[in-house]
Amino acid sequence: MRTHHRSETLYKEALDTIVGGVNSPSRSLSAVGMDTPIFMKKAQGPYFWDEDGNRYIDYLAAFGPMILGHAHPSVTAAIIETAQGGVLYGTPTKKEIRLARMLREAIPSCEQIRFVNSGTEAVMSTIRLARAYTGRDKIIKFTGCYHGHSDPVLVAAGSGPATLGTPDSAGIPESLAREVITVPFNDPDALNEALEQWGDQVAAVLTEPLVGNFGIVEPEEGFLQSVNEQAHAAGALVIYDEVITGFRFHYGGVQTLYGVEPDLTALGKVIGGGLPIGAYGGKKEIMEKVAPTGPTYQAGTMAGNPLSISAGIACLETLSLPGTYESLDRKGQALEEALLEAGASVGIPVQVNRKTGALTLYFTDRPVTDYEGAQAADSDTFGRFFRAMLEEGVYLAPSKYEAWFITTAHTDEDIQYTVRAIKNSFQKLAP
Ligand code: PMP
Repeated sequence: MRTHHRSETLYKEALDTIVGGVNSPSRSLSAVGMDTPIFMKKAQGPYFWDEDGNRYIDYLAAFGPMILGHAHPSVTAAIIETAQGGVLYGTPTKKEIRLARMLREAIPSCEQIRFVNSGTEAVMSTIRLARAYTGRDKIIKFTGCYHGHSDPVLVAAGSGPATLGTPDSAGIPESLAREVITVPFNDPDALNEALEQWGDQVAAVLTEPLVGNFGIVEPEEGFLQSVNEQAHAAGALVIYDEVITGFRFHYGGVQTLYGVEPDLTALGKVIGGGLPIGAYGGKKEIMEKVAPTGPTYQAGTMAGNPLSISAGIACLETLSLPGTYESLDRKGQALEEALLEAGASVGIPVQVNRKTGALTLYFTDRPVTDYEGAQAADSDTFGRFFRAMLEEGVYLAPSKYEAWFITTAHTDEDIQYTVRAIKNSFQKLAP
């Protein structure tokens, strides 16, 4: 039996000075029925070790950025070398041009780019820019998609297929929430309904082109094309939030995989190699409206900082090596098969939604194509499964709505170990 005594003690200490004991709510393990978050001490490759000395195979990958595993030698070397030359200048640097070029080459719709510090900032900035460019205020988003914690996107649906939002958090003015319309993902008719009602006021339709935030949910055939056509017909822009999907499934955005281009794209996570970063980009004609070229203000003391940029370059260079995504896909397939087999063998219905090296396990007998479907999956069973896997030494993303991220660092042995852990854990769930 693994013990977490040190984590328990540290959590009590943390609660004294850090609100809730965590610096981001999803680090609490309450969604999987645990009282104490686990305090990690160090990480290397596909593993991390907690303060009690337990080792885990890590499929959280820090909620996405660590696609190369932890302390990857190229990324670490880039960070050290850069740090020795100073970490922040408040002036432009040559490397920012290099990373911007790498992004544009991989995601051609990003004709011009601006670096920021987080995915939240990236999305927030695209919304301001879309509003500035169109002279309109309303935003349409899809139920269950998460776009960071800026005011305009912390808004959930009211009832009905297309609804004006209600704040999803305290502290967000009702007046702001009313500028956000929420419709179900994969439902072009609901989008149509919303645009018929409010189309001439809509600045942008914002979506994760492939959802990562109620688990991995792919757009249905033609959905993204329909989003583009409908938005543009209404004079609105299309914003893709590729903070999770960027460089996750191939070297670029999913927009290239699906052959649909948005007007603006938000990026984050992987493009910083684990250091704080975000970026947004789009058509030059739109991006030119950003200060200092245009009237839309957006700035950042830390934006484009040398450490994040160097780590990002090293990460993308490594990802661009041949075979990267094929290998992630192969490992993902092995885990998907193991989960389906284990579920079937003990008679527990499961769905696995997977795209290459990212997958979500839902305890439900119905395919999950939208937020409602994800909500219907059994949370208690997921919590028990999470805890059983933790006991086996496998650390999963701590919510039924999150994705497991396989990294280039996971070896075939790690995958085989995980397959056995999956079997053992399902045995414990057996009715
Ligand atoms: N967009 C998406 C799709 C995300 O998944 C996230 C974070 N999970 C964000 C935006 C916000 O990014 P950050 O946490 O870096 O602010």
